[in-house]
Amino acid sequence: MSADAPYVCRNAWSDARPRVLVVACSDGRLQENVDEFLNSRGIHHYDRLFVPGGPGALASSGFELLRLDQLRRETKFLVEAHKIEEVFLIFHGAAEGGPAHACCADYKRKLPGTSSDEINTAQEGDVAELQRLFAWPTNLKLHIYRAEVGADDKVRFVSLQSQKLAAGSQ
Ligand SMILES: [Zn+2]
Repeated sequence: MSADAPYVCRNAWSDARPRVLVVACSDGRLQENVDEFLNSRGIHHYDRLFVPGGPGALASSGFELLRLDQLRRETKFLVEAHKIEEVFLIFHGAAEGGPAHACCADYKRKLPGTSSDEINTAQEGDVAELQRLFAWPTNLKLHIYRAEVGADDKVRFVSLQSQKLAAGSQ
């Protein structure tokens, strides 16, 4: 086969639009874990907004307001144009006692010098704001998780919605 021959995919294109949007960090170390977790929820096809920091990039805890505004507009566009019904916001970091280098680099950039526990607390602080942000289409189903890497190198998807709901939309 010539080096210039096109690669032909085994799977044909499908025009069935997923109604699920996943907002997660670009960090490729978690790509397969994110897919596995979503598959376990019966989700195999989904729209992606993968940016450094994942859902944290949509929270105002950062200092780059232009980026925040732009990403919020992109999210709104996807939700409306693709008629999204369900959104997964997936943070990531180290579990208690887990490897510090599993922390999100974007949060480290936002909060220099903080420990992985402090970053986890900051992410939990962003949850209420994100719940308000995604309250705009009233029937949108919202799921908020953190992929936590443990001392055993296992990745656990922990719901962040059971806590700090008082200010949220659910
Ligand atoms: Zn990250």
